[in-house]
Amino acid sequence: DYALYHGKRTKRGKAVLFSSDHDAEIRRDAKIEQVLQMANLQEELSVVFQPIVDVRLDETVGFEALARWTSPVLGNVPPAQFIPVAERAGFINRITRPLLEKALAVAANWPTGIRLSFNLSAQDLTSPEGLLHLISIIHASRFDPKRLELEITETAFAADFGQIQSAITALKALGCGISLDDFGIGYSSLSRLHALPLTKIKIDRSFVTDLHEKPASYKIVKSLLALGRDMGLDCVIEGVETREELAVLRELGGFLIQGYFYSRPMRESDIPAFLNLRPNVSRRHHAHLH
Ligand code: C2E
Ligand code: MG
Ligand code: MG
Ligand code: MG
Repeated sequence: DYALYHGKRTKRGKAVLFSSDHDAEIRRDAKIEQVLQMANLQEELSVVFQPIVDVRLDETVGFEALARWTSPVLGNVPPAQFIPVAERAGFINRITRPLLEKALAVAANWPTGIRLSFNLSAQDLTSPEGLLHLISIIHASRFDPKRLELEITETAFAADFGQIQSAITALKALGCGISLDDFGIGYSSLSRLHALPLTKIKIDRSFVTDLHEKPASYKIVKSLLALGRDMGLDCVIEGVETREELAVLRELGGFLIQGYFYSRPMRESDIPAFLNLRPNVSRRHHAHLH
């Protein structure tokens, strides 16, 4: 595996302590960029889907689409490595567009109560033509934009806030939900959050790990959930791996759960079995009423 061989899987932005590691990372990213430039991304990119479960009724409410790249040259390269490279090199749209098409085509076959979440980069939103292209992909699909949630991270606001704001407003007007991803680790001010038409926040997984025995994490999750409630937003909690974490989150009123506890990201073909196990009960009931 290229990623394992060529060094550590650092989280984006994490400080690199040793210059030799740093050099290795720079060389690795240069190689990734070079291979990405030449890649047939339509062919080499695929999408996996991780379920989001409402624990109150034990029902699936949606899936998040996550990018996978299998390069004939490098093997499997994780998104935490190739997405930032493509962003820096200025061609993230070559990744976003085919992935969005693939994800929408899969999601179009799901029961109507199931939503699709899709990650966007700041750069997907900062050019008017780029935004129009995304909107045309959404319209060309057989998927109702009201069932689509677009995820952005706070780091997107470092770009051009006004431009991001108007792009998000346009997507919201199509009926899409707007989720703030990795909530809690960013640097944006709360007043900026209020200036965006958000519908959901996703609490970052770094606060969830062992929160039942980490008072600091516990307090942070508690206040982020309270903040979300005050803002009238749904909160998804990411990275839930254990029964213990889940129990504490339920107690705190965190009900929308995404994490290995329920499932790792899965291929399209595994989705029907998961939905059989945890169908969307309330929406199905709803459909019978109307
Ligand atoms: P994200 O959007 O915050 O996605 C959640 C990440 O957490 C995924 O990693 C998922 O596999 C992982 N995860 C979920 N539950 C657990 C858990 O219980 N334990 C652990 N250890 N990990 C868990 P993944 O698929 O490697 O993606 C990493 C990041 O790459 C994503 O973070 C997102 O920022 C970015 N990304 C992935 N696909 C796309 C894409 O299509 N477009 C863009 N712009 N970014 C993407
Ligand atoms: Mg996400
Ligand atoms: Mg996240
Ligand atoms: Mg992320």
